[in-house]
Amino acid sequence: MSCLFCRIVAGEIPARRVYEDDDLLAFEDINPQAPLHVLVIPKAHVATANDLTEAHDALVGRMVRRGAAIARERGVDGSGFRTVINCNAHAGQTVFHLHVHVLGGRPMAWPPG
Ligand code: 5GP
Ligand code: ZN
Repeated sequence: MSCLFCRIVAGEIPARRVYEDDDLLAFEDINPQAPLHVLVIPKAHVATANDLTEAHDALVGRMVRRGAAIARERGVDGSGFRTVINCNAHAGQTVFHLHVHVLGGRPMAWPPG
């Protein structure tokens, strides 16, 4: 298994897990860009947002809602947070297993660089 995040799901690579159920895993980003920087991923491998189908709609909805729940747990729901899915080169995707970044705890600029 070569996919980094599949290996985290399998427990072959350690991660600071913050949430887990049958379908989703959330863990702290190894290189946090904000006081809160958690990645929410599906346990089943999906490479990019381009690979999503209608069959994934409920899963993606749950990923986004889980991000909001984690933001609430960390107390940044009121101040605000950002959820990001990078897809392919122009967006800077580096790990090709779908993930939602959940960032918060500081003001963030818009538009992104
Ligand atoms: P991307 O650039 O693909 O949207 O985001 C990939 C994210 O995965 C980056 O924020 C990076 O810091 C994080 N990351 C890469 N390798 C690891 C790892 O081994 N463990 C954890 N926890 N995060 C990782
Ligand atoms: Zn994978």
